[in-house]
Amino acid sequence: MAIRPILNVAESAAILKQVSAPVERVDDELRALMDDMLETMYDAPGIGLAAVQIGVLKRVIVMDLAKEGEEPQPRFFVNPEITWTSDETAPYEEGCLSVPEVYDEVQRPARVRLTWLDYDGVAHDEEVDGLFATCIQHEMDHLNGVLFIDHLSRLKRDRAIQRVKKVIREAA
Ligand code: ZN
Repeated sequence: MAIRPILNVAESAAILKQVSAPVERVDDELRALMDDMLETMYDAPGIGLAAVQIGVLKRVIVMDLAKEGEEPQPRFFVNPEITWTSDETAPYEEGCLSVPEVYDEVQRPARVRLTWLDYDGVAHDEEVDGLFATCIQHEMDHLNGVLFIDHLSRLKRDRAIQRVKKVIREAA
């Protein structure tokens, strides 16, 4: 396993805006990618990471919503598809490893139904809510080249990018 550099919107917007391609099969090579993604996410630390955030344009997401002190609960999503969304929405103060130190409220459907393949290539079909629903929608946006700041006003988005530029400068 290896920790990979995470792309940010100030330096790598052109990659982060691309649409990721479906995965053809879940094999050891893909599992090695998922292992790296999980380690990179834990190191950051974050609760979700899409492959495009480490520069790999594949429809793969890792997530762990365990609270502090709980056992890790790693989840892997290959080729996830949302098949239903609730009319009811819920707000959540979102952040993103590719938009460091920026947090803002985004409204998304409160419940979604989705299908995906897991780490072993097993198919799942589940309805989820709460943080799971918010996080998977945020991560699936990444697979389509969309960042959470794209859901905000233009002014807020421009400010967010300026903020990230400053964060990157200060870290250099
Ligand atoms: Zn993100």
